[in-house]
Amino acid sequence: KPAIVWLREDFRLADNAALTAATQTGAPLLLIHIRPERPYGMTAVDWFREKTLAHFNVDLRSLGGKVHVFAGDSARLLPEIAARVGAAAVFWNRRYDPVGREIDAGLKREFAPCGTEAHSFAGALLHEPWTVKNRVGQPFKIFSAYWRAACEAGSPRPPLPAPRELKFFTEPVTGAQEEQLPWPAWTSSLDAHHKFGEAAAQDRLVRFIADDLGHYEDERDFPDRDATSGLSPYLRVGQISPRQVWNAVSDASVNPAHAAARAKFLAELGWREFAWSVLWEHPGLADHALRQEFEGLPWRTDPSGLEAWKRGRTGYPLVDAGMRELWRSGVMHNRVRMVAASFLVKHLLIDWRLGEQWFAETLADYDPASNALNWQWCAGTGADSAPFFRIMNPVLQSRKFDPSGVYIRRWVPELKSVSDKDIHAPWESPGGLPANYPLPIVDHAAARRRALAAWDGVRGGD
Ligand code: FAD
Repeated sequence: KPAIVWLREDFRLADNAALTAATQTGAPLLLIHIRPERPYGMTAVDWFREKTLAHFNVDLRSLGGKVHVFAGDSARLLPEIAARVGAAAVFWNRRYDPVGREIDAGLKREFAPCGTEAHSFAGALLHEPWTVKNRVGQPFKIFSAYWRAACEAGSPRPPLPAPRELKFFTEPVTGAQEEQLPWPAWTSSLDAHHKFGEAAAQDRLVRFIADDLGHYEDERDFPDRDATSGLSPYLRVGQISPRQVWNAVSDASVNPAHAAARAKFLAELGWREFAWSVLWEHPGLADHALRQEFEGLPWRTDPSGLEAWKRGRTGYPLVDAGMRELWRSGVMHNRVRMVAASFLVKHLLIDWRLGEQWFAETLADYDPASNALNWQWCAGTGADSAPFFRIMNPVLQSRKFDPSGVYIRRWVPELKSVSDKDIHAPWESPGGLPANYPLPIVDHAAARRRALAAWDGVRGGD
């Protein structure tokens, strides 16, 4: 009788608690993945997951195994597959999104009376999202307090090694699908920006520690420098675990002068943890403002403004560079995500939920917790957010964080010949605006006044 390992967001051999536990039963392993139904087609993170699956299968083939892929409703399919192969037990690593956690709880209830054991494990986070609480047992609303408590709870346990030997279930399994789906045409530009596989993720981590960790704190905000880890898509689909990242970074010998950089990096991993703990408490995080009063903001309906933002045609070069980076590569630098999100919400006064949805479709690292929390943070609608009245000036942000316009020129070729000085506000350039680049779709000062008036309205003008 096989032991089923149901892989979802954990395509790795090392530090995979479900896989290790299944191996320890001595039963032959049946690795499965159930593709969700995708009535609207693939999103960027679906693409990244599919690529990851394909590479994971290459690794597994060299060990004599593979992932059997099914498609459809996992709540119905998993019990069917388990019954079909006479599985003794099912193993999975926990997921924490509202839909996933409900399906998993239902499956556990369903398996219990039929004698199939269902075992779930921690693997996607450093701390289970319900475990970090304040002194009176309440979840934290503020990141700094959350992170202090999480750190005081002690270091996460060391990552597990990959199982030394894997014995696979070799009998035919009916109902499995093609391992690989045809790639939609839009995904071709994404390929050049990503490498896949557990080894690639480890490689990226090792290079980051060697080359960038020491100056992470000073350089992480500059989009023209490759100074951040680039690990977010790998973490998203579990090609690497946060525990592996935490341990490698904590154990790395860094110059004592760089201790603050290390702490800063670990705290960024902490933001990911915090986001999942907030989503755990607020399953509607992507749908409702955490601060109720923001539900009353007079959001504008502006389809052409929204479209210009999505396509990188707002006339503000840093915003446009970010939005085009997102479309072409599936990622966007964190600083630019903040500027672009703020621009949509405050300059265009368009509902943050529309921006959240666009990022959900186009980010290869999209996760429902980090995306929703960060959108609420940028929009000022969350408990621990930048206040709404703090409105980022996209030109000043551009001058500060991309001073020579290197990042802008990489993504907005129309501005290639504009000088370093003028590239941040090219409409003021003495040489004139390049013919194929738009004028700003909104004036900064007027947009700022409009956003502040809207905010005053919801506060009752006090
Ligand atoms: P590094 O700077 O190397 O950080 C290391 C890791 O820490 C990241 O891989 C990520 O897992 C975590 N991290 C860093 N910053 C944050 C943060 N602000 N919030 C949560 N985790 C963080 N990140 C996602 O992983 N998925 C998303 O869907 C997502 N949506 C975002 C939407 C907006 C509007 C904004 C402003 C930020 C969003 N982020 C999201 C956070 C952040 O931009 C990315 O995690 C980061 O850019 C990834 O690059 P990196 O791996 O090089 O990060």
